[in-house]
Amino acid sequence: MTIQPVNEKTLAKAAALIQDGGLVAFPTETVYGLGADATNEAAVASIFEAKGRPSFNPLIIHVTRNTDLLPYVEWNDRARLLAKIFWPGPLTFVLRRAVGSPIAPSVSGKGDTIAVRNPNHPVAQELINRAGSPIAAPSANASGKLSPTTAEHVWDSLGNKVDMILDGGPTLVGLESTVLDLTLPTPTILRHGGITKESLVALLGEVQESHAITEAPQSPGMLSSHYAPRLPLRLNALSARDDEAFLTFGPELFVQSGAYRINLSPRSNLDEAAANLFSMLCIVDREPYKGIAVMPIPLTGLGAAINDRLARAAAPRD
Ligand code: AMP
Ligand code: MG
Repeated sequence: MTIQPVNEKTLAKAAALIQDGGLVAFPTETVYGLGADATNEAAVASIFEAKGRPSFNPLIIHVTRNTDLLPYVEWNDRARLLAKIFWPGPLTFVLRRAVGSPIAPSVSGKGDTIAVRNPNHPVAQELINRAGSPIAAPSANASGKLSPTTAEHVWDSLGNKVDMILDGGPTLVGLESTVLDLTLPTPTILRHGGITKESLVALLGEVQESHAITEAPQSPGMLSSHYAPRLPLRLNALSARDDEAFLTFGPELFVQSGAYRINLSPRSNLDEAAANLFSMLCIVDREPYKGIAVMPIPLTGLGAAINDRLARAAAPRD
């Protein structure tokens, strides 16, 4: 069995696997990552292979305080300030690749930038420190599918393609990191995620959003059909048909429906809804349901990221 509990022995083994060019899935506070040594080109290539991820879609490298000062990327003042406030945490910076950076070229996809994050999870921190180099890690799911928030999700999506899955329980945030491009004159959100736009604006003043969702996106993860469940999704639904599952939010006082219901957050808490989103979608994305109806979710705070993932999940497939 590839799923392992976290202890001294499995951590040592996981770090050795990374150093040997292997693939280890590990928990972060956002979702589970599929990790490999970011400085090892062959190991990075095997991430793309295992996920079926297109080579143009770049990877985030994960660092800790011990590694983030090394010359992987060109730091700038904004990045330093943001790191001080939000790291470790669910915020990823896109920065220019430093001259002579040891990070494997394919981490950058087709570009000359590198996305970097310091994750707020003890297992991720321990693994990076023990491995002794940054860990490149996309979400640990087959390309285009829902991101995994439990070790079992990783197993279901990737199985034996991973050398080891470290089981740290369900992830806390449940949504991927916010990706912020700091190479442009105005900081630009490429993907909504665990750090809200409001909190970035509060610190930086001006922050823009990239709207190139479908055409030539700066961030390939912005492709519209990125988080595809099997069943069709119907958004902003106030009721559900009997053959649909109903993903609700907030008190269900006015809901009149015989459909199976599952509530993202009965007390209308967006953090709770984010943490539950992928696992609840997973629960209802199966027979006997014929579709998934989703109640409206507010657009404020983490609601922006939740609505973004839902819109992609509902987008027409090729
Ligand atoms: P995931 O693959 O789920 O970890 O998501 C990583 C996200 O970060 C994807 O949307 C990538 O396209 C995006 N990303 C990673 N590296 C870069 C980069 N250098 N420039 C722009 N976006 C990036
Ligand atoms: Mg992903």
